[in-house]
Amino acid sequence: MGTENHLQLNVIFLPYLTPGHMNPMVDTARLFAKHGANVTIITTQTNALTIQKAIDSDFNSGYSIKTYVIQFPSSLGLPDGVENIKDCTTPQMLEKIFHGIMMLQPQIESVFQELQPDCIVSDMFYPWTVESAAKLRIPRLYYYSASSFSSCVYHFIQKHKPHKGLESDSQKVQIPGLLDKIEIAPTEMDEFQRKENDMTILMNVVYASERRSYGTLCNSFYELEGGYEELYKNTIGIKSWSVGPVSAWINKTDEEKANRGNKVDLIEEPYWLNWLNSKQSDSVLYVSFGSLTRLSYAQIVEIAHGLENSGHNFIWVVRKKGEGDGEGEEECFLQDFEARMKESDKGCIIWNWAPQLLILDHPATGGIVTHCGWNSILESVSSGLPMITWPLFAEQFYNEKFLVQVLKIGVSVGAKVNKFWSTVGEDGIVGREELVKAVKTLMGSEESREMRKRAKKLGDAAKRTIEEGGTSYNNLMQLMDELKSLKMSRN
Ligand code: UDP
Repeated sequence: MGTENHLQLNVIFLPYLTPGHMNPMVDTARLFAKHGANVTIITTQTNALTIQKAIDSDFNSGYSIKTYVIQFPSSLGLPDGVENIKDCTTPQMLEKIFHGIMMLQPQIESVFQELQPDCIVSDMFYPWTVESAAKLRIPRLYYYSASSFSSCVYHFIQKHKPHKGLESDSQKVQIPGLLDKIEIAPTEMDEFQRKENDMTILMNVVYASERRSYGTLCNSFYELEGGYEELYKNTIGIKSWSVGPVSAWINKTDEEKANRGNKVDLIEEPYWLNWLNSKQSDSVLYVSFGSLTRLSYAQIVEIAHGLENSGHNFIWVVRKKGEGDGEGEEECFLQDFEARMKESDKGCIIWNWAPQLLILDHPATGGIVTHCGWNSILESVSSGLPMITWPLFAEQFYNEKFLVQVLKIGVSVGAKVNKFWSTVGEDGIVGREELVKAVKTLMGSEESREMRKRAKKLGDAAKRTIEEGGTSYNNLMQLMDELKSLKMSRN
């Protein structure tokens, strides 16, 4: 074996089974392969189908990349093919899928043993991979698919519990330790931070595994939040590499953008694309709540009226619900709405899944209403777009504060309650007037001109950081070199 071969890194990527975690990790895995590593992505059958096209195409271009398919347990009574959190439609299904994912551990460990990698890049939600890597005497990288800013917020809230002793859940308190003065109400905190629950126990295990990792791999970039990256490193005390935005770095062609993370190919010239092509630049608002959100019927009605009353062009991605949930009524309402919008030429609905990268990069798209999932934020930043922020759960309220108060490229719609799925109750619903107000501010005000300029500037920085010589580019090269040195010293 020649020295070069000898030095080829063998890296296993282990993504969590939800688009917000899988998309960036698969993009990162493809980048490793593109820069010479031998890459294996471990995942289950249905999930493999959503990435197979990209992997096959990379492989056929000469890169050393493959998926290793493991079996999702069939004993749990989940419908056939439900192997991803986004496909769950009831709390019972969610419980089963989390259980199923935990049951994958022995299969995954045996793949580690079989492939003898030089490094494991593990999603944060597999804390046990710290032990697997230790057994193999290889580095484990903790993959965090969100921002360094949110990571710092999580850690400082866990450590200082600033909300303890507040008189009400809506009273704001400053988050200690950050570089900016950020205030938060307990109702905006991730549920497990607001009040201890089963998730708190799991997250403490996750955080312990983070500190025992060789380093953190993060889909972000220095020009966006370098200060927080430094703060993160100093706080946690481990290395960290920001190598994003990975979506823009690896998905260059329209085909790659259109089919990313979805097993169904985009049909040629869909209605909404022709419609988008007919619109002026920066005139359309893209409205998406990510891959996991389930909104109540009452909230859907408010969004529809808000969009219509705003008078602006929009594309809205709406997920069909499963059985129950008052689906019939909602579907009728949405079909009427869709027909009306088609007639007035004001808006389109995309059902279930949109090729988000393609839409964000389209010249007609001028802004986004986002639930503040980190991937959607980075993808919008990469396209130079300002945002209307509508956080719903997890760290999304932290991301909103970063967008609105630190980067100043977001207009808040005024959501107040952090809650997974549609269980926010009447008080958590955002009314149509609030949406209209935010849309008018984002799409037409003086204030928004400055915001748009800042967003464009960040978009340019995002493009530069992933080019040869850019910060994220250099970080990735430096990380790969370091992993090679570790491999050599092991040998
Ligand atoms: N996504 C997409 N089409 C959709 C919904 C989501 O392509 O209709 C992608 C989106 O581009 C992003 C990911 O799925 O890469 C969602 O991640 P994010 O962190 O934004 O939110 P989450 O779904 O995890 O809440």
